[in-house]
Amino acid sequence: MSVTDASQQSSETALSINIAHAQVVADTVRSTLGPKGLDKMLADAGGRVTITNDGATILRNVNWVSPIAKKIVEVARTQEEQCYDGTTTAIILTAELLKQAQMLLDRGVHPTTIVEGYRAAVLHAKEHLNGLAIVPDDDLLLQVAKTAMTGKSAEGERDHLAKLCLEVVDASRPESVHIMTRTGSPISDSFSPNGIVIGRQKMHNAMPKSVDDVKLALIDGNLELEGFGSGVNLNLNSYSEAEEYREGQRAKLKEMADHIIGLGANIVLTTKNVDPWLAEYFAKKNVVCARRCAASNLEAIAESCDGLIVSGWEDLEEEDLGSAGKCEEVIQEGQPPFMLLHDTPTANTASLIICAPTEEVAHEIRRAMDDAMGVVWLAKKEGEVVAGGGAPQVDIAMHLRNTTAPMVGGRESLAIEAFAEALEIVPRTLAENAGLSPIDMLMELRQSHVGDSARFGLNVYSGSVVDMAEEGVIEPLRVVRQAMESATETAVMVLRIDDIITAKEPEIEELV
Ligand code: ADP
Ligand code: MG
Repeated sequence: MSVTDASQQSSETALSINIAHAQVVADTVRSTLGPKGLDKMLADAGGRVTITNDGATILRNVNWVSPIAKKIVEVARTQEEQCYDGTTTAIILTAELLKQAQMLLDRGVHPTTIVEGYRAAVLHAKEHLNGLAIVPDDDLLLQVAKTAMTGKSAEGERDHLAKLCLEVVDASRPESVHIMTRTGSPISDSFSPNGIVIGRQKMHNAMPKSVDDVKLALIDGNLELEGFGSGVNLNLNSYSEAEEYREGQRAKLKEMADHIIGLGANIVLTTKNVDPWLAEYFAKKNVVCARRCAASNLEAIAESCDGLIVSGWEDLEEEDLGSAGKCEEVIQEGQPPFMLLHDTPTANTASLIICAPTEEVAHEIRRAMDDAMGVVWLAKKEGEVVAGGGAPQVDIAMHLRNTTAPMVGGRESLAIEAFAEALEIVPRTLAENAGLSPIDMLMELRQSHVGDSARFGLNVYSGSVVDMAEEGVIEPLRVVRQAMESATETAVMVLRIDDIITAKEPEIEELV
């Protein structure tokens, strides 16, 4: 007789199932790794199609059912949050650590021994990685940006985009960069204006093209009169009654405008609609007004102009107004004009305008720029970069095999060797995705690292093993370290599970 209503699966079966599920997650993104990785086409339930090469984006868009798959996908999320890049690497490394563990399990090594071996291995791996650090100058930071963009749509214009990355990261944290995308022009038109963008054009032609001593009213809502609900009939019996009604409406709109202008505002931004009559009134009073601004745009403006976003015009007070030295309209040929705020009190925000021929490309470039700005910022903040192309992984693997494993000895050393083998999944996959032989390439790589050549990695274009620093393939050290750390933590978590207990849906009591 069953004691609980849960279904239970135990021990070796549970572990093997979980390890198999991890492989499925990794297989979803494996072919995207590296500059020669391929793209995936994602179609969501609403019919929207995204074409991307970005591991985290792909995994986010799959509806994972397996609980362990969900846990593994979290590795990508952590990696993205902490390091902006390296998501695919973290996932395939997690899966590979588990695959190697399965082989040890098959040979009779206990999961606990593997866990201990992996934990020792990651400590030594991190220590060895620190020894490979290079302090980046601006040139290397440019290479970091370019490396993050290889293999994405951004690649063709990466010299230009990498420079933009450095510019904006100089001014702002990547999260505070306000990005606007514009379609219909070449990627090379992308630029970083010196100021904060107001993403919408002014509502009325007669509004000034430039404003000095800017005072901004930021309203998350409407500036119009509330309509009557549906089904309400308004009976106006004569022309004068109708006229009176209109007058009343205008008086109310005027009251709104006068309140805002009275506080000293000369720019009014709203996230929703603005009554056209009100826009005209603002224009007459030399006040600039823009409607339907994106909430994220308003937040960026509030942050840099030291303003407060209010939900209705009645709530607006003088101290809520943001300020800036100047606001100017910018006109780009063939594009709707937009406005720029200069000399804002808080200088740690920046804007980026991404131009692309189509919306699809614009979004992919945006994702690539998000990664690139992130890694440049990280490399700058931490002051440590390493050569890429599998170089650090091969070097660490060699150190673990030759130094750490013999030192630790016993069965644990088998796990350390397995860890080393797993790290080499990075160059192996890079080779595979480039149509090269993973085995031949790996052997050549291992051989190249025998001497004092820790920076040798795989040139996926020529199929040769070269110094990746000279090749300009550079990554923040933190990306490599975090991928190893979170992959190990997740693999350990999976290895410590010996039961899968699936709870039944709780029965909902009927409400009487
Ligand atoms: P992730 O999601 O892990 O960042 P990517 O597709 O961006 O996946 O691939 C990153 C890997 O590709 C890193 O190991 C990086 O060193 C390597 N890589 C990037 N550019 C090159 C290059 N030009 N040659 C060889 N390897 C490269
Ligand atoms: Mg990447």
